[in-house]
Amino acid sequence: MRVWDWACRMGHEGEGIEFPGGASLIELTVEIPFSAAHRIEGHPGPCARLHGHNYRALVTVAGERLDSLGMLVDFGELKDLCSQVIGDLDHQYLNELPAFRDGNPTAESIARYVYRGLAAAIAQQGWKQLRVARVTVCESERSQATYWE
Ligand SMILES: [Zn+2]
Repeated sequence: MRVWDWACRMGHEGEGIEFPGGASLIELTVEIPFSAAHRIEGHPGPCARLHGHNYRALVTVAGERLDSLGMLVDFGELKDLCSQVIGDLDHQYLNELPAFRDGNPTAESIARYVYRGLAAAIAQQGWKQLRVARVTVCESERSQATYWE
């Protein structure tokens, strides 16, 4: 779905401050570091061996309405919620987690896991003013995977 379509579909219901001009979008991004071990089964190179990464998850949320303070959501509250989801991965051997039972814990699948976990957490939190836009998982300074749906 294009961002503009989504913004238009949000309509004009609910509380909060709307940017002048209508369907503007604001995005917030927080960065959550975590460390984990994995191996990529079937990989022809060294990634097949057990190794670890100091990952960074860049979580971007989007919405079009601000609260009375002019915020989409408080950065601290967003980080806390992200940390709860990502905390399940921190200092784990990812291949052993149920979330990756059906496939390798690649940066791609980790990004999907975080995206879906956070989407569920935001719904549970009742934060109707925002949605997860995308999640980028950086395996190193130069390698990253981004997931959105
Ligand atoms: Zn690796």
